[in-house]
Amino acid sequence: VSETAITVIAHEDQCAGSGGCRKAAPLVFGASPDGWVVVLDRHPQQSQLSDVLEAHDVCPVTAIEVLDAEGESLA
Ligand code: SF4
Repeated sequence: VSETAITVIAHEDQCAGSGGCRKAAPLVFGASPDGWVVVLDRHPQQSQLSDVLEAHDVCPVTAIEVLDAEGESLA
């Protein structure tokens, strides 16, 4: 099992630009100049998992997916 077991996907086309994700997990999510979500780190360390899951939870449009090493959805 690799250290980079998490995969983060953000559906920019669904993003509402609220900024909650980058507040919850600033190492993993940023924003484009227009304010839409940008994934800064598609395979964050396991230590980022709780922040990433919080980002998923605060996203008002469920634009964030979190997958484990097997591609199973964690959120
Ligand atoms: S929390 Fe959701 S809607 Fe808000 S910026 Fe992040 S992806 Fe976009």
